[in-house]
Parts: sequence; C-alpha cells; structure tokens
Amino acid sequence: MNTKYTMLPLGTVKPAGWLRRQLRIQADGLSGHLDEFWPDIKDSAWFGGTAEGWERAPYWLDGLIPLAWTLDDEALKAKAKKFVDYIVAHQEDDGWLGPRSANVTNPEATENYDIWAVFLANKMLCQYHEATGDRSVLEAVKKCLRMCETHMDRHPLFSWGKMRWFEALISIYYVYERTGEGWLLDLAAKHRKQGFDWMKFFGTQDITVPTPRRGMWRWDKHVVNLAMCLKAYPLCASMDGNVSDMLFAAEMIDILDRYHGQVTGVFTGDECVAGKNPIQGTELCAVAEYMYSLEHLLAALGDPAFGDRLERIAFNAWPATFSPDMWGHQYDQQANQVQCTVNPDHMWTTNGSESNLYGLEPNFGCCTSNMHQGWPKFAANLWMRTPEGGLAAVAYAPSEVSIEVNGVPVSVTLETDYPFADLLTFIVKTGSAVRFPLVLRIPEWARGAKLTMDGVDVGSPTPGTFHIVECEWNGESIVTLELPMAVKTTRRYNNAISIERGPLVYSLKIGEEWTQVNADQPCRELPHADWEVRPTTPWNYALIVDESNPSESVLFETRPVGDCPFSPAGAPVIAKIKGRKLPDWGLKNGWAYETPISPVKSAELVEELTLIPYGCTNIRITEFPVLT
Ligand SMILES: [Zn+2]
Repeated sequence: MNTKYTMLPLGTVKPAGWLRRQLRIQADGLSGHLDEFWPDIKDSAWFGGTAEGWERAPYWLDGLIPLAWTLDDEALKAKAKKFVDYIVAHQEDDGWLGPRSANVTNPEATENYDIWAVFLANKMLCQYHEATGDRSVLEAVKKCLRMCETHMDRHPLFSWGKMRWFEALISIYYVYERTGEGWLLDLAAKHRKQGFDWMKFFGTQDITVPTPRRGMWRWDKHVVNLAMCLKAYPLCASMDGNVSDMLFAAEMIDILDRYHGQVTGVFTGDECVAGKNPIQGTELCAVAEYMYSLEHLLAALGDPAFGDRLERIAFNAWPATFSPDMWGHQYDQQANQVQCTVNPDHMWTTNGSESNLYGLEPNFGCCTSNMHQGWPKFAANLWMRTPEGGLAAVAYAPSEVSIEVNGVPVSVTLETDYPFADLLTFIVKTGSAVRFPLVLRIPEWARGAKLTMDGVDVGSPTPGTFHIVECEWNGESIVTLELPMAVKTTRRYNNAISIERGPLVYSLKIGEEWTQVNADQPCRELPHADWEVRPTTPWNYALIVDESNPSESVLFETRPVGDCPFSPAGAPVIAKIKGRKLPDWGLKNGWAYETPISPVKSAELVEELTLIPYGCTNIRITEFPVLT
C-alpha cells in the first residue's frame, strides 16, 4: 500500500483513563443493548427476522465489533460472534450476504437492492476477521466480492451504492492484501467507474451553495455522503499511488470549511449542506463518518492537520450529540443550540421536527444504528505504524499500544488527561535493545511545545509537524510532551466570536430541564426514552473580549477528570468570562434567533459567565456576539 502510515490491527490499541471510561459508558448505553429491544436490530432480516434488512444491522456491528475488541469485553465479543456467525452461515451459494431485499426475502427483488449495505457488511466483517483471525469470515467476504463483480455488470451501482462506491474499497483492499488476487483491483476500478464523480462535483459552484429551503434534498449535497467521500480519492491512491488523488481530500475539506464550516471542525448539513449559520444542524452520522474518513486520511497522507481536525471533532462535536449516559442521541446538533424540543417551526433544510431531541431514534433511525463506531474506531486509530516499523501517535488520548519491532516486544503507555490537560507522558518499554522511531504529532496550535526524554529537555518541536524521536530504546524510557494551550478567539458567522483553547471549543453553560416525551411510542421506556431539553438560565449574552490578548479576558480552571467528563456537571475545565445580556436576542422558530451582527451594544449589567467545553454541553451558545 502507498500509505504514509499503516492502521494497526483491531485490539492492538487499548484505551485507558477517561477514554476507557467513556467506552464503558457507551457499552452500558445503547451500543451494548440495542439488539435486546430495538426491532431493527433485534428482528433484523440480517439475523432471520422480518424487520429492516439493509444498512441498520451492519451499521451496528460495524461499531459493536471495535467496541468489543478495544474494551476487550468478552460479553460484547460473544454478542458480535453470534451475529457474524449467523450472517456467514447463511451466505448464499452465489456469495450473496444477508437479505436480498430490504424488507422481504424475495430473491426476485435483488435487482432493486442497493448494495451499499453489502459494502458496509463486508467492511464490518473485515474488522471481525482482523480481530479474530476467523478464516471463514475472510472467505465469506471474498466470495461476496466475487458476487458483486457479476452483480454490478447486471445491475450497475445506483442511489447510496453509487454515491458511496469508495466504501467498498476498504474490504476489497483488505482481501487483496491477504490474497494478492488481481481481479480485486479490477473490481475496485469498476466501483470508481460506476460511482459518482465527487472530484468533478467539488469543481462546481454547486457545493458552495447552502441548500435553499425545505424539500430540496440532494444526493450530492447530503452531509453524510460528503463526510464519507473525503477519503474516496486517497483510498484509491493508497493502491495506485496517484498523487493528485492523494491530495484532493485537503481541497474538499477546505471548500466545506469555507462555505459550511463550524467551529467544532464539522460542516453543517441537516441533512443537506446548510451554510455557516450556527443554528443550522449537523447530522450525527456525518460526524461519525468524518472522524472515520480522517483516520483513513491520516494513514494515507500522514498530514498532522488531519490529526488536529480529528481531535477537534472527536472532543467537541462527537460527545456533544449524545446524552451524557449515551442512551440518547440527536439526529442534528447545532453550535448555538439553546433548546431541543419537538418543534414544527424548525428551520432545518430537509429534516423533521424532532431532529434535535435526545432520544432513541429522533427523526430517523440511521444514527441509532451508526452511532457506535465513533469512539471505538477513534481509540483503535490513535496509534499507527510508521514505514520503518515504529509507532506514530496521530491523535492523543490515554491509551496503551503493544507491537513487535524486529521481533522485540514494544509497548507504549500514554498517561494523560488530554484534551483536558496539556501534559502527555509516554512510557516506552522494550523487551531488549531495539531502534525505531516514535513519531509524535505536534498540533498547529501548540506554540512552545516542550519535549523531554528521561527527564532531560530535548527541545521544542515545531507546531504543525510530526516530530520524530529516533533512538535505540532499551528497557523503560519516559518521554514527556507538553502542549501549551493558549486561548484563541475566532470571528465567525455575523462577525460573532468563538473561544477555543487547544483542541477544545468552549460554550456557555446553560441550566437544563429535561422532559420525557414520546412515552407512548414503541421502545421508549427508560433508559432509552426521548427527551426535550429546555434552558433554565439566560443564554442571550454578548461577550467582553480583548481579542488582541484574550488570555486577559478568559480565565480557566481545571478539575480532576471524573467518571463522566462529557457532561455539564463533570466538565473538567471551566472558563470564566464577562458579558452582558442582549434583551432583543431571543427565541425564533423554537431556536435561538440568528446571532446579532457584531459589534453590539448593551446597557445591561456586566455579569460573570461560565463556559465549559462544547463536548460537555447538551444545550449551549458557542458563537457569541461581541460588545463594542
Ligand atoms: Zn444518521
């Protein structure tokens, strides 16, 4: 493969500290229990039932498998094995996996079956094979890919399969690397040929234009498709080495940022691209897929900017879109989200009135089935292999990685409360003397970063680079990296201001009242109920900020990282800033009204406001007007 780094096999990286606790919260919430009560998994046609037989069960397993193996949770592994064994045992003679239609077992319906779900199932099964080495699963994927080869001649890609053609490359290349069979590369080329030309679409003005009004749903402006397609061309290039393909992802991200970007690193789409206004939403599936795309981009290109962005999304947009216990999630999140109610007056481009509730399946159940991959794949891809066989830390969170270098066992434990603290301690252990590079990402924002080895200062690595620590390691060594987090302000939509520090974005902490709704709907019994959230404290503030010296305006204090860091009560960092109310800034269409254009004036009293990390909030203001 022509990639800069190589993803490590599932199970090689183990989460520790707060990340392990977060994965446990996830396993104890919807992810570990969805199959016990939600018909679209429990009675899925993938497992012989009569419920949805298309993307939902493969989506769930695509997250459950990495969750089970990163947590090393035997009960979850057994659950995954049961369902995977069923799917493989019921493979048809022609290689078809799963139902031949989304809802009925009618063989004649195959031609109408959008094989996007087959791409997803194969990708999921490859993860299972990687984690278990179960040869029958690899054989099942290979046989299924053979089936796709002829199926696609008779029924060329359409709908989701056409837009998401590149997702099939993951399983195709996985099998190719293990078998070397050349027909698989022809099959990959066939997918690109039949698939949608994203490169061409990103060359048009169309992508820059927010979706104008309700009902203008489009395949090519669909937020999840866009988050997924960022990895399309680097994936192709990882096989054939085409440089312009490799570099195109950065151009795509730049365009999405410029016209639809949000301060949390994602772009809007509710569910088609919606411009930069912080009251437009971003669908959960898009956040999950953006993270997964960035993990592939990091491997393919080794560009530290993708690591900065991965952390920005993983620590902000990702946790924010769940209730702290991960039993409830939203369909759409907003940067300025002051209440989440059943809201027929909403201004989404194409979504429905329940899209920002926290619940079981608000708006549509895709996110209910696709929410499981975010944290586990992030944990699994924190570390990657360098071309020399060493280790690269592409994103940071408490973790442990164990590999062999030239036959010598090597482990690195990263002890840290990052992103809530700025000190990272790497404990490198080797079985005997061995030389390899330890590659550390230095974020673009980390001015004045400091590195020590066994207590000796070894200089200031350059921000925005991968810093290489190359030496002969023997026994135990301690490397520390300090990443100073300076507060930063950014002007955004309507000249509003947002506040960031290191990888975290800060939002106004708003008092919350949670009210259960939809109790009469199926499967809404506690703990997987639907909730509205309303503010109990004012939110319509403009800030007093000295932008030339923001550290004078915002004061930070840290607390120990507790059991549930991504919650308002558990926020490990708190910031204080001054502001005044803007009495004319209120609710409209059930949301915070459009941010007043800054600078603004207010005769109200100066108040001290509390900000917490965006990822810790359920309702929030993130883009604030600024006082003159
Ligand atoms: Zn979704």
